[in-house]
Amino acid sequence: MVCQVELICIGNELLIGKTLNTNAHWLSKRITSLGCIVRRTTVVRDEISEIVASTREAIARKPDFIIITGGLGPTFDDMTLEGVAKALSRKLEMNDEALEMLRERYAEFTKMGRIKDSNLTEYRLKMARLPQGARPIHNPVGTAPGVTIHENSTTILVLPGVPQEMEAIFEASIIHLLRDKSDGLFYVERSLQVLGVVESSLAALIDRVMLEYPAIYIKSHPIGSEPEVHIELHLTTSSRNKEGAEEEISKAMEKIQVLISQKGGRTGFV
Ligand code: ATP
Ligand code: MG
Repeated sequence: MVCQVELICIGNELLIGKTLNTNAHWLSKRITSLGCIVRRTTVVRDEISEIVASTREAIARKPDFIIITGGLGPTFDDMTLEGVAKALSRKLEMNDEALEMLRERYAEFTKMGRIKDSNLTEYRLKMARLPQGARPIHNPVGTAPGVTIHENSTTILVLPGVPQEMEAIFEASIIHLLRDKSDGLFYVERSLQVLGVVESSLAALIDRVMLEYPAIYIKSHPIGSEPEVHIELHLTTSSRNKEGAEEEISKAMEKIQVLISQKGGRTGFV
């Protein structure tokens, strides 16, 4: 079974059009390239009831991982851990390891002159209160630690919303978890630019190639607007045999290029 992942992005700013959800985009690309499948992304407001409902719904689908981003910080609107704890019927409790991480971080930031004092105020301490049984994950960039929680067969990973922090934690501490679950699958992708053939005519050619190469998925993406429109063909496959997959995708690329030129179209590489 291919490793299944769900994303939950938390933040009012994402739902009022203030912030583009680049975390979902970045994570989807990265997770796919690691041979896992992103099954669903849910975006919810900074509200306990929304966080509880979306977390419970995701758990009920039993994915291997649920990655939650946003709302880990010290301010009143950061309530992700409270919501996740409630969804799992666990209490929030002071976590010694997380406390030590925060202590070190604030001492370091004070030394660097980034903040004035390293006191662990009530607001800062909030970031060390984790759901029972959770483990903190070192944040190499910011203050709020990430969080790992095991719930039945699902691993819940809670990451900060700030993209640089989320990405740094993912690269340092999450990749190996996904790789271990991805069953040795490699993801291979190629893109081809097509000019001079309309998408509706391409559809039949795509079907023909996908029938001949069933492991390859081809999706067409129109780019630009009339009369300059061209189409990007995106070919993807996952396999345990990376070289084999690359060979197969190259053959499918050649085949579709031949069919397109027979239709009077032109192709180039993106
Ligand atoms: P902080 O400690 O900074 O409060 P946090 O984990 O609480 O971190 P949020 O408060 O949810 O994170 O978001 C912090 C900032 O990160 C937001 O102002 C926003 O600019 C950015 N951000 C949050 N979620 C996303 C997202 N899904 N995509 C892109 N940027 C995001
Ligand atoms: Mg915040």
